[in-house]
Amino acid sequence: MAPVLEVTNLRKHFVSKKGFPTPKTVTVRAVEDISFTINPGEAFGLVGESGCGKSTAARALLRLIEPDGGSVRWKGEDVLAARGPALKALRRRMQIVFQDPYSSLDPRQSIGSALMEPMQVHGIATGAEARRRAGALLEEVGLPAAALDRFPHEFSGGQRQRIGIARALTVEPELIVADEPVSALDVSVQAQVLLLLKELRERRGLSFLFVSHDLSVIRWFCDRVAVMYLGRIVEEGPAARVLANPLHPYAQMLRDASPIPDPSRRGVLPRIIGEIPSAANPPPGCPFHPRCIHAMPQCSRDMPAWTSAGPGQGGVACHLHG
Ligand code: SF4
Ligand code: MG
Repeated sequence: MAPVLEVTNLRKHFVSKKGFPTPKTVTVRAVEDISFTINPGEAFGLVGESGCGKSTAARALLRLIEPDGGSVRWKGEDVLAARGPALKALRRRMQIVFQDPYSSLDPRQSIGSALMEPMQVHGIATGAEARRRAGALLEEVGLPAAALDRFPHEFSGGQRQRIGIARALTVEPELIVADEPVSALDVSVQAQVLLLLKELRERRGLSFLFVSHDLSVIRWFCDRVAVMYLGRIVEEGPAARVLANPLHPYAQMLRDASPIPDPSRRGVLPRIIGEIPSAANPPPGCPFHPRCIHAMPQCSRDMPAWTSAGPGQGGVACHLHG
């Protein structure tokens, strides 16, 4: 089965000036040569602590920010080279659901208008037909069609996220990029929104790129997962294998710090050993070596190569597994 999405050596650096009185140029290596594929109907997770580059990677592959290097292919088509109508057509295939349902909706725009606009932009439907479709989408995400004439402030966080999901569906995408889609919500409504996403995935045959810091959510939702650390993927493989038997010491640390599926503690970021070094000044060799309890002399010198974890088991970048 050919993948729908192929991301190869994707890179995004942010350059800024910092310091007073003589500012210095600082390069933050937010995403450093990451590669992965997503198969049709598959849910692929990107997991890591806040600041590891997972949201930047998600935005860069959709070109919501322009990447600095690498390649992104949608069903073989070059996403980074696409311009004008070709880019617009690709955007229709891949839609994002943002973390914050409060800021992703325009407070002055009615729900109906927010849902009908993308249909008009992409030439899918206008007028009464667009309105009929928007109402049906609201019902599909568990809201009454009468919500069309209301405004974002009239809804709770969970309802707004349902509206954000309905808006992503207006253009009939094949891939949803969900960037921490429930982490801004009350714990009590997180499960309902996750369940909705899972139902939509099954009913519509959607593929997912699911970005989260929460291992229990990834374990429940995803088929495969990549663990990111300081802008790099350090381990990748079937979610069941990576989350139960991680090979990379960082992935092991995340697992050990993560509460066993206890919904009441979901969203609590595990406290783990040591500070994350800055992506503006990543350590030499293995980026994890300052925090790694298994670090060896070569770890502070040489970047570990990517090593297979066995047939169908993904791989890992660590000198322990070279
Ligand atoms: Fe730890 Fe070395 Fe493996 Fe990096 S390469 S995770 S420092 S053992
Ligand atoms: Mg983020």
